[in-house]
Amino acid sequence: MPDNTQFDVIIIGAGINGAGIARDAARRGLRVLLVDKGDVGSGTSSWSTRLIHGGLRYLEHFEFGLVRESLRERETLLRIAPHLVKPLPITIPIYKQSKRGPLTIRAGMIAYDLLSSGKSLPLHRMLSRAETLRTSPGLNPEGLLGSALYQDAQVEFAERLVLENVLAAREHGAEVVTYARVTKLVAERGVVSGVEFVSEAGTNRFARAEMVINAAGPWVDQLLERTSSDSPRLIGGTKGSHIIVPLFSGAPANAIYLEAQSDRRPFFIIPWNGNYLIGTTDVRFEGDPDEVQSELWEIDYLLAEANLAFPEAQLTRDQILFTYSGVRPLPRTNEKNEQDITRKHFIREHPQLKNLLSIVGGKLTTYRSLAEECVDLVFSKLEKHSPECVTAKEPLPGAVNLTSFAKDFESFNSHIRERLLRIYGSRANNVAQLATRDEELARPFNKDSNALSGEIVFAFEHETAKTLVDCFLRRTMIGLNADLGIGDIEPAAEIGMRFLGWSELRAKREVENYRDEVKRFRVQPSG
Ligand code: FAD
Repeated sequence: MPDNTQFDVIIIGAGINGAGIARDAARRGLRVLLVDKGDVGSGTSSWSTRLIHGGLRYLEHFEFGLVRESLRERETLLRIAPHLVKPLPITIPIYKQSKRGPLTIRAGMIAYDLLSSGKSLPLHRMLSRAETLRTSPGLNPEGLLGSALYQDAQVEFAERLVLENVLAAREHGAEVVTYARVTKLVAERGVVSGVEFVSEAGTNRFARAEMVINAAGPWVDQLLERTSSDSPRLIGGTKGSHIIVPLFSGAPANAIYLEAQSDRRPFFIIPWNGNYLIGTTDVRFEGDPDEVQSELWEIDYLLAEANLAFPEAQLTRDQILFTYSGVRPLPRTNEKNEQDITRKHFIREHPQLKNLLSIVGGKLTTYRSLAEECVDLVFSKLEKHSPECVTAKEPLPGAVNLTSFAKDFESFNSHIRERLLRIYGSRANNVAQLATRDEELARPFNKDSNALSGEIVFAFEHETAKTLVDCFLRRTMIGLNADLGIGDIEPAAEIGMRFLGWSELRAKREVENYRDEVKRFRVQPSG
């Protein structure tokens, strides 16, 4: 891309929101530049609880509009990305000592069902104590009255949901530049006309646009501060951490939504990627989002609460496979309690910086409707007639012809086929086609996960990966396996040397960088 290229819209941040906006804007015919300081999806969008949910909890805050929107979007995502977003049954155990008793839970469930009306997932069921213990025998029986069983959805690999939005944006002509940090918004007399960024090669670059969208998640204010010293702060981030543990004694088959005994906060224990995801915490965060890490007190809190809920589990720090932490880019408010901060999104205009919009909040669940609202606003600001928004109808790239495509990978064993479908959807064919180049590419290089050598090449050649960190954590998903992909990193670097033209030095650097990157997912002895 030559310097000073003119776009209609520049989007800063390729998290779920920026990626969704880029897909919609490009699909509606705008010239789009999407730029990220790191890889696509490398910010908050990778560090969530991975639920595509209506937000049952928001009912307590009477946010009916948000619940209705979330439930509608849940249905949309089940339709446009069924390879990534799947129904998830969730059990809410009810105890004598619970803050929310059977009547409150029942009322919440009925309201949730009413707001979900016309959707494809089954309605809730109330279970007796005996039924609850039959379905989740490991649950603490003391004081258990029964439970509610309801349906939401899970995006096992949110990273790939982001990626597929980026790939769709590219298919519609968007320019995507990663590892390019926007250092400044270019503004003259209060009108924003582009961005200044430092490219991957370290050079200063410029791009111009009619509108700039600041979709930098928890970094939104950092970006504004660099342009205008009197920008009011928009984000009041809260940090949330998760721990990942292997199957434990008494582990539930369903996801469980619990009330923590120590502070009555809600938290989840969720079957995820062959292990269990437990989280989350919710604490104000004023630091640098690049430095966020799970602290020991958070880890101990989650372990203690999981052990209270499942007494046979006896989970300890040593059993934790890895942890991760992210900052919710919530709106800045005076709410004292983090739980009370609204989860609604806002698209902020800047009276002192015209042609700039900043995205505040926004969940994985509602990214598509946020994007639609944002692109509608862009068209209105540009005083252009907008074509129809079709992002709720058109499948994401991996869902195109998902139920009817002729599978070019039938010759692989069932584990490999299942893996390819679960990660790439119908694009599994593209991986299989690439693997015909060489016998080695069609062989798994990881026997446990059945990941093919060809997937490494595919990530770099077709899915915008630039490093093995991108490839493991946000393309092949090997990096989220129980050992964080450590056992596979050297073989992957060898594939890079053999098929991607890497020098020995590059391969060595990739391995070192990967090992460094995943250190932050280990339980830190000093917190
Ligand atoms: P991000 O994903 O952070 O993307 C912002 C991007 O901007 C980053 O990639 C970053 O690199 C880039 N950037 C920053 N500064 C610059 C710059 N100067 N130049 C270029 N690029 C830049 N939502 C749900 O729907 N379901 C859940 O279960 C759920 N659970 C959550 C649990 C936790 C603990 C957290 C933290 C969040 C959770 N969320 C959940 C919310 C959801 O994950 C986030 O709101 C959403 O991912 C935010 O996406 P984003 O695109 O706005 O931000």
